[in-house]
Amino acid sequence: MGLFSRKPAFCAVCNKELKHKHKPKREWNIKGSLCGDCHVEKTKQFYEATIRQPCVMCGTTRKISDLWEPRWQWDMNGLLCKDCFDKKEKDHTTEKNYCSLCSAKMGLIRYNPKPKWKIKGQLCRKCWDGKKAEFG
Ligand SMILES: [Zn+2]
Ligand SMILES: [Zn+2]
Ligand SMILES: [Zn+2]
Repeated sequence: MGLFSRKPAFCAVCNKELKHKHKPKREWNIKGSLCGDCHVEKTKQFYEATIRQPCVMCGTTRKISDLWEPRWQWDMNGLLCKDCFDKKEKDHTTEKNYCSLCSAKMGLIRYNPKPKWKIKGQLCRKCWDGKKAEFG
């Protein structure tokens, strides 16, 4: 009623009338003010979003500190949980050291299958020769 009375303000999230206005942080992208509860909630949400991320392989959300960066050879984006990282690493080493067909351990010399053979991984000499004879 007095000269100094101000318009009531409402929380931008829950529309509750505000007794104390809480300023949202710029990165929240919220116009207006927030009530205490919503401010706490937003702070928490935002914090969690910045420290938690899903693993790109299994989708489990974990703390970023518990996630691993994939090795560059894997040609992947995002982060992996420890389980998936280990699995991926094992797959990768297995794929690299064993012949895709007969699973013989290979030395330094491996043979890349021709694209039309539709074989993943690499081959030992024997299998490569075999496929070559079969498919050309
Ligand atoms: Zn609110
Ligand atoms: Zn995972
Ligand atoms: Zn082989």
